[in-house]
Amino acid sequence: KFISLEGGEGSGKSTAIDFIQRWLESHKVPFIMTREPGGTPFSEEIRQLVLSSREEKVNDTAELLLMFAARAQHVAEKIKPAIDQGTWVVSDRFIDSSYVYQGDARGGSTQILDQLTEWAVGDYHPDATLLLDVPVDVGQQRVLQRKYQDRLDKESSLFHQKVRDGFLERARLNPHRIRIIDASLPLEDVIAQIEKQLEALVQS
Ligand code: C5P
Repeated sequence: KFISLEGGEGSGKSTAIDFIQRWLESHKVPFIMTREPGGTPFSEEIRQLVLSSREEKVNDTAELLLMFAARAQHVAEKIKPAIDQGTWVVSDRFIDSSYVYQGDARGGSTQILDQLTEWAVGDYHPDATLLLDVPVDVGQQRVLQRKYQDRLDKESSLFHQKVRDGFLERARLNPHRIRIIDASLPLEDVIAQIEKQLEALVQS
């Protein structure tokens, strides 16, 4: 099984990942945890390159292509081998983040994203994607409370609204794969929703 986790800034993705990891361990499911951009040494270098702030602004097209370069390496070297041997893969972000950040929020065309996805990902699409959905203001409040802020935390509310709307639109277009988790609820309710999804996946 291949599960990806998606959500905007402040949606509680890290907490969800910790819970999923513990749950799979306690249910003796063989799995690997990975993330995007990143997941292999080379792809982590690309992550560094894209996410570190610098004097020169990264061009949107350059960013899009780097994300897909990182993803091609990640799928070929890590995701595909794991899935082929029956190991579960849980990825903190995957293709939907590109459709939303490089596409909806930064203007990349869906047609190009589709083609690059076909090329870099092939048949290795997630079986299920858990989308942690929170209203933009709730997410922003949470981000303000954490110590480290990254480059996207400086983006406008409009940017984050495009991200949220983009993810919800992806869910509408892929209703069987993408499951919306209401991440504005108290933590135990969020965890309960995730656990329900994991139980269904283990049984399917
Ligand atoms: O998952 P995490 O929040 O650690 O992601 C790191 C940063 O990279 C975030 O600001 C995220 O929005 C951004 N990102 C991006 N495009 C992607 C994946 C992540 O801009 N395709």
